[in-house]
Amino acid sequence: MSERGARLIKGATGEWEIVIGMEVHAQVLSNAKLFSGAATTFGAEPNSQVSFVDAAMPGMLPVINRKCVEQAIRTGLGLKATINHRSVFDRKNYFYPDLPAGYQISQYKQPIVGAGEVTIDLPNGESRRVGIERLHLEQDAGKSLHDQHPDYSYVDLNRAGVALMEIVTKPHMRGSEEAAAFLRKLRAIVRYLGTCDGNMDEGSMRADVNVSVCRIGGYDKFRETGELKHLGIRCEIKNVNSMRFIAQAVEYEARRQVDILESGGTIAQETRLFDARAGETRSMRSKEEAHDYRYFPDPDLLPLEIDQAWIDEIARSLPELPDEKKARLMAAGLSAYDAAVLVAEKETADYFEAMVAEGVEAKAAANWLNNEYFGRLNKAGLTVTTGPVTPAQHAAILEMVASNIISGKIAKDVLDIVWQEGGDPRAHVEARGLRQVTDTSAIEAAVDAVIAANPDKVEEAKKKPKLAAWFVGQVMKETRGKANPQAVNAIVNDRLGIADGG
Ligand code: ADP
Ligand code: MG
Repeated sequence: MSERGARLIKGATGEWEIVIGMEVHAQVLSNAKLFSGAATTFGAEPNSQVSFVDAAMPGMLPVINRKCVEQAIRTGLGLKATINHRSVFDRKNYFYPDLPAGYQISQYKQPIVGAGEVTIDLPNGESRRVGIERLHLEQDAGKSLHDQHPDYSYVDLNRAGVALMEIVTKPHMRGSEEAAAFLRKLRAIVRYLGTCDGNMDEGSMRADVNVSVCRIGGYDKFRETGELKHLGIRCEIKNVNSMRFIAQAVEYEARRQVDILESGGTIAQETRLFDARAGETRSMRSKEEAHDYRYFPDPDLLPLEIDQAWIDEIARSLPELPDEKKARLMAAGLSAYDAAVLVAEKETADYFEAMVAEGVEAKAAANWLNNEYFGRLNKAGLTVTTGPVTPAQHAAILEMVASNIISGKIAKDVLDIVWQEGGDPRAHVEARGLRQVTDTSAIEAAVDAVIAANPDKVEEAKKKPKLAAWFVGQVMKETRGKANPQAVNAIVNDRLGIADGG
């Protein structure tokens, strides 16, 4: 196993650093494909969403989908990246049965989005920046089906021509933990932006993970000079399609490279695939070079010209992104940890915001969710979207606490009741008589009864003021948790002749 947050790996001759750069394919959220009007719905009947363009029928011409371009710009802005006013679509030529045209329309030397950055949050609370090299638009390919017939392979072209954003990072991640943190953050950003659904199970987000190892210090030298020669030779692991597999694939691949280097070998730059069942990476093919693809500008498409006014308009419509939201919540008094938990998933953030919109103070809402609700959800295998309690119900419970109608302890019971039975928390409190007793005379009577029944304890408490807590506990028990604890405390102290806070 590697150590120090999975950044280093120990070999027979010493420690090595693991360096990672990623190429993430994110499917653009759009109703139609990048260059045709065919639909993009996931899971449709095979070949039911294929236009003549997608099937590469002779004479068909691509027409760019404005919505896809807007989504790429929006994503670029979310990655704090340069948007290029002029970009070019190229043909990337290769032969494969799921690619009817014999080329993929992609962007090569002039992508739509240039350099940007993503801030990643590590489990130890640290934040680091990962450079984005570029984002370009390209078409997805179809899908070969080899398990439908004993003698034939079939092809489903529904996915052919769907718009993808390829997001390429600099080799700035050190180890599997940072790689996973990057992918989580990127996924959160595109989901906040509404530019990709981030659904890794359906293949809407797939990562190619480039891994190399070098001697300690190589990474820092690379960061200082920008020279790749300080890093090791990398291998690219294709289509790692779950967060869990990223760590496994990186760890396996780094170990493999260290073993080769330490036994005097050299790393062959190649494309590998991760076999999740075996937990190992295997060689797929030697790394192809750009010239293998015979890139050239697609003569059917004009260069893409984007004016600043459109970029500005999209920028104005950008939602608050996770980092900004986290900063705002911290300014409202939340801890970095609580804020990070709340913003990590868009649904969680929306749920929290809905509670605040119902009038709950931000810190109270965060404490309540983190301490009470999320634990219950986890235990039941539910999420904020599938769980049984609405933000308005939480707000009603917390409002009753804030206005001293129920105690914090009773609030938890009310949450359990609402979880089981649904309904209006206020009605449950009334129906079950859970209202906190703030009526002083009722509390006085309860205190006096406890005092009268325990004369020996009263004598003791006069010498040991800490015993007052015992009386408070008894009164709370007698009133089944409904007495206002502050009032009980004050009256007990008064009756025992103890100064407040004693
Ligand atoms: P290519 O054009 O051959 O695909 P790129 O320069 O576009 O190469 O890099 C592809 C990916 O590989 C990028 O995400 C980059 O960060 C990553 N990468 C490049 N060099 C290394 C390295 N030495 N170790 C790890 N990742 C690397
Ligand atoms: Mg590349």
